Amino acid sequence: MEDLLSRLRTFLNQERELFGETLLVEHCPSAEEAMCPSKQPSNDEPSLFALPPVAQKPVTLEAWGQATTLDALDKQICTCIKCPLGHTRTNFVFGVGSPTATLMLIGEAPGADEDAQGEPFVGRAGQLLNKILDAIHFKREEVYICNILKCRPPGNRKPAQEEVEQCLPYLRKQVELIKPKVILCLGLTAAENLLQTTESLSSLRGRVLEYAGTPLMVTYHPAALLRNPNWKRPTWEDVQAVRKLHDELLQK
Ligand code: URA
Repeated sequence: MEDLLSRLRTFLNQERELFGETLLVEHCPSAEEAMCPSKQPSNDEPSLFALPPVAQKPVTLEAWGQATTLDALDKQICTCIKCPLGHTRTNFVFGVGSPTATLMLIGEAPGADEDAQGEPFVGRAGQLLNKILDAIHFKREEVYICNILKCRPPGNRKPAQEEVEQCLPYLRKQVELIKPKVILCLGLTAAENLLQTTESLSSLRGRVLEYAGTPLMVTYHPAALLRNPNWKRPTWEDVQAVRKLHDELLQK
């Protein structure tokens, strides 16, 4: 029962993240119906998900939620001012790479170089990321690179909760459109926000976790490697594991 409730909570949180508070679900089977498809809901037995008739009006979604390509999504959200960063950015940093990428890398937020150029990971950390990709035989153009936030936090501070809450649904939509085989989180900010966890980076490394149904692994942020070269070796091990998982999933 606890497990069912926990899965239900996760599902509803994910739906709310994507669709906002105005989510209307037409009808999803109750656990009992799912296990016994011949059992139809009766009028005197409302399902957990069914809404009262008065609420049965069209689903209200923001237009970007229906984008079917990354370009369309970018066009619809690039003027976003849902959080204060929309007023201080130079460029909206949507993401870069192949729309059919099988590997998606997710960092924290644009820095000064990224804000100036409108592309993620183009500064020193980006150059190191390119080398890391090269080491596992991925070209930058064949993967997809983006961040938890699309706009630069002033002074490169950590993203604030309000900023993450507003921005994360866009990333979730990108993941839905790209359908990568594997996500690699670069650093703890990406991991803790995608996984909704407070676990440490060292406890998250080396495990195959999951975001929105997609296998996800975690490694150090390239900027952290620039500060602490001792982390290069474990990062090398992490990305080898990512390459292996990716190749295995691609063969299935
Ligand atoms: N750090 C990040 O997390 N993302 C970037 O795009 C650049 C630096």
